[in-house]
Amino acid sequence: MLRPATGRQLYLIEARREPCIHCSTGTRTVSVWAFSAARGEEVAWCRHCFNAECDPLPLTEGQRSRYAQIRAAITQGRSPSTWDAVRPALEDLERRGLL
Ligand SMILES: [Zn+2]
Repeated sequence: MLRPATGRQLYLIEARREPCIHCSTGTRTVSVWAFSAARGEEVAWCRHCFNAECDPLPLTEGQRSRYAQIRAAITQGRSPSTWDAVRPALEDLERRGLL
């Protein structure tokens, strides 16, 4: 869960690595964050060329059900990991071998 100092809470739905579309050698870290059952945003950046993007994204069926699972787990008392920004969140997951 992302809990920025200002703005809304977001939940990490998925994260993946893919070749960068802006340079030939970089790898982009792409993450999808949801703030409601239907809407979220995709945050992507490349460590090599530092090209970063943040775009609104309507959630797919699979992403919606993932969001529902996360909300249900929290309702049942599970406390999510929280971060204050996207990049530390992904770096943390990477350190723990989850990315
Ligand atoms: Zn790049």
